[in-house]
Amino acid sequence: MIPYGKQDIRQCDIDSVVDVLQSDWLTQGPVVPEFESSIASLVGATYAVAVNSATSALHLACLALGLGPGDRLWTSPNTFVASANCALYCGAQVDFVDIDPKTYNLSVERLEEELQLAQKSNTLPKVVVPVHFAGQSCDMERIHKLSKQYGFHIIEDASHAIGGAYQKQPVGSCAYSDIAVFSFHPVKIVTTGEGGVAVTNNQALADKMRRLRSHGITRNESEMTHEPDGPWYYQQLELGFNYRMTDIQAALGVSQLKSLAKYIERRNQLACQYTDHFLQLPVSVQSVSPDVISAYHLYVIRVPAAIHLSVFKSLRASDIGVNLHYIPVHLQPYYQQLGFSNGSYPEAEKYYQEAISLPMYPTLSNEQQLVVVHQVSQVLQQHASSNKSKVIL
Ligand SMILES: *Cc1c(COP(=O)(O)O)cnc(C)c1O
Repeated sequence: MIPYGKQDIRQCDIDSVVDVLQSDWLTQGPVVPEFESSIASLVGATYAVAVNSATSALHLACLALGLGPGDRLWTSPNTFVASANCALYCGAQVDFVDIDPKTYNLSVERLEEELQLAQKSNTLPKVVVPVHFAGQSCDMERIHKLSKQYGFHIIEDASHAIGGAYQKQPVGSCAYSDIAVFSFHPVKIVTTGEGGVAVTNNQALADKMRRLRSHGITRNESEMTHEPDGPWYYQQLELGFNYRMTDIQAALGVSQLKSLAKYIERRNQLACQYTDHFLQLPVSVQSVSPDVISAYHLYVIRVPAAIHLSVFKSLRASDIGVNLHYIPVHLQPYYQQLGFSNGSYPEAEKYYQEAISLPMYPTLSNEQQLVVVHQVSQVLQQHASSNKSKVIL
């Protein structure tokens, strides 16, 4: 089976982890801060707060921005459930903004329309979470403009997009957002096993997220309500969590980051090759804006809805580990219970009827890619001819 995604672990990654295992600190040692500063300088943000998942990072980002009961968070329905769940963790409400049928990202036109309506009904969001789907940054400049006009905060869910760029700046520079979040799950661009990070240029937000990832505790005297009782002293100032990343994970991350540029280059090369091959086939592919360098976490094709399921099954049967990103979040039973219904976000639902994620990872060889392309075109041909014979009959 050629999987749709796969981590790339080299000897240098293993050595880096073993070094930590043989050191004095498995967690809360020097490697987490080292990883954080590598991330911050790589993406051009001032602060990075490493945590045990992007889900935790999203949760802390929402809390740091003061999201709570009575507030609203808007995101794309074409995402992993975590981009929406973070609002519910804070007791806030979620709503979705339908996607652009070409980029599969949240549609900025729809966002603007929804904001106009929400202003009239006094239901404006406190936070908007643009998701950089498949590694392509959303149009952040326009979303940022809207945020100034309508007064909302922005958390970029950049789980797919580390190593990508927008308007010649790395994704995560937070030029147009308050906070950006990356995931280091093994299927993403670089991995720490499980892990995530929140980056920001705002010191108060960084301090708050850093405190909340470790129980709401501070050891910083200047934050305490009175003089320390002694050298052992710390204070819990608010209710936080244990969302810490370990040094073992961070060591893997530090080492993985050294390959990031190569990974992005290879992913872009594979994407280019896929796109060239698919020009001749009745499939559509994601359009990528000229001012974006996609990190290409995913490579998605859309096939006609009438043959989608059988194309998907045929590819799986021929050992191509295709997948589907994403089931629109509002169609999940949990969200339906909250009152969301089918038909609310027609572009995301139409996309779901057609999308197939093809194998995309840096160690996918050109030969393997050709096997994928060959299978896709064969399966499509079979379906085209069987459809035609149906028509003739
Ligand atoms: C993977 C992913 C997450 C969650 O990341 P974890 O590190 O697994 O918690 C959130 N949002 C998107 C868009 C993702 O792809």
